[in-house]
Amino acid sequence: MRYLDLVRGPAARFRDKSAVVGNGRRLSFAELHDRVGRLGTVLRGLGVKPGDRVALLAANELEYLEIQAACLRFGFALVPVNVRLTEHELRFILSDCTPTLLVVGRDEEERAAPLAAETGIPRMLGLGDPGAIPSYDTALAAAAPDEGGGPGDPGLPATILYTSGTTGSPKGAVIDRLGFTARVLVNAVELGARPDDVHQASLPMFHIAAFLSYAYTAVGGTVVMLPEFKPALALRTMERERVTSTVLVPTTIAMLLDSPAAAGADLSALRLMIYGGSAIEPGPLRRAMERLGCDFHQQYGMTETGGQTILRPADHDPGDAERLASAGTEAVGLEVGIVDGDDVPVPRGEVGEIVCRGPSVMVGYWNRPEATAEALRGGWMHTGDLGYRDDRGCLHITDRRNDMIITGGENVYPREVEAALADHPGISELAVVGTPDPRWGQVVTAVLVGPAPPDGELSDWARERLAGFKVPRRWVRVDTLPRNVTGKVLKHRLRSDLSRTED
Ligand code: ATP
Ligand code: MG
Repeated sequence: MRYLDLVRGPAARFRDKSAVVGNGRRLSFAELHDRVGRLGTVLRGLGVKPGDRVALLAANELEYLEIQAACLRFGFALVPVNVRLTEHELRFILSDCTPTLLVVGRDEEERAAPLAAETGIPRMLGLGDPGAIPSYDTALAAAAPDEGGGPGDPGLPATILYTSGTTGSPKGAVIDRLGFTARVLVNAVELGARPDDVHQASLPMFHIAAFLSYAYTAVGGTVVMLPEFKPALALRTMERERVTSTVLVPTTIAMLLDSPAAAGADLSALRLMIYGGSAIEPGPLRRAMERLGCDFHQQYGMTETGGQTILRPADHDPGDAERLASAGTEAVGLEVGIVDGDDVPVPRGEVGEIVCRGPSVMVGYWNRPEATAEALRGGWMHTGDLGYRDDRGCLHITDRRNDMIITGGENVYPREVEAALADHPGISELAVVGTPDPRWGQVVTAVLVGPAPPDGELSDWARERLAGFKVPRRWVRVDTLPRNVTGKVLKHRLRSDLSRTED
């Protein structure tokens, strides 16, 4: 066996210690280990074979961790599916990955059954009360633990994680047992995870942030499942479980701090706030650091690579705006480069595409040989993100390559324009995209939410802070910005909406 078993080691060391808390229940490591073994028997009994996919459509429920641990141990690929997807999107993913079994969360039964029938999934298990779908609990209770494991091959897929779909249709990133092992160990090292840690899974487990939880499990820490992100619930659970570390994205950090419940919450056990997923400006970051007073750890990563660079706690110097605005330096075991359009490394300080290689990188995209060959050409994962290194070697993410605007031959990075406008006191939420223009090719277009100052005032504000070609030519008001589950603005949708209104 040449891969990491999430539960076997900690169960031998920490038998009665809490391994996972969720759905009002608590499992010790001994119980978790026993359940993983039983689940092996159940899954094999249902005809799941090494290499097969097991899809899981559930919020952060207690069982998430044991299902992933069993898939890893017995050689099945877990496909965690985002519960916020529409039926159309679910149909796409389920038909794409052709699972042998669909495990359905407590609130998902109604829509899951017809979807499984339509996409030809032969078997289902339901986490909820016994009903139309065969019960997971009943099956588990009746099974004897399988003390063995699956085949030892480290190249078997451990999970297929679908990307967030920010730039188009989600793609399934295949992570084999070797890659899974690497992601868990890299996180354990970088987080300094300890057996006395209590990690709250505040982001969905169908996102790469799940590897943070798995890292704590691997060292014998406790994982607390938060079923959904509601600030008051998150704070209450952190207080009750004496949570020592959690993970948020920029939008949920702001929601947590702005919540009326934040003022009275006792977060004295909190040691580490992990964040990432999209850029956060130094201002809001500094505010969060002041308010929480714990260590901060930023990851820049993607579904395909896991965390590739990290801004570590010691780098969070409130007086060092340049460093705070960066995404830090390489995670242990990963290499990160910056290349031009011909894959030639660019000199330090110049913007290029960020590429990454190392043991945590995906094997490829499920069912997409061409996209895989393109993304992994030359043995490096091409991230589609643009960035540069500063004088001290820290990586700065400028923007996504596809979001870059070319207007009259000049390159404009929307993030830079967004940062300049976001400082205006009258603006609460905005996004900048390029829209087609007969004269300039594209024009810089600012999309603002809600009431905002008169356009002229904003243009003046922008002109004082940005070169002329970066100043938005078009200003648009909307009620809300289209966002995905981790709060990222779906710019491809904005662009197509705006191109339509132009016609
Ligand atoms: P899709 O690939 O389907 O379009 P996605 O890229 O949003 O969706 P994820 O893999 O969840 O899906 O997100 C990875 C991307 O998120 C990165 O490529 C990068 O653009 C952005 N990102 C992640 N962490 C950070 C960070 N710390 N700072 C800035 N951007 C980040
Ligand atoms: Mg992506």
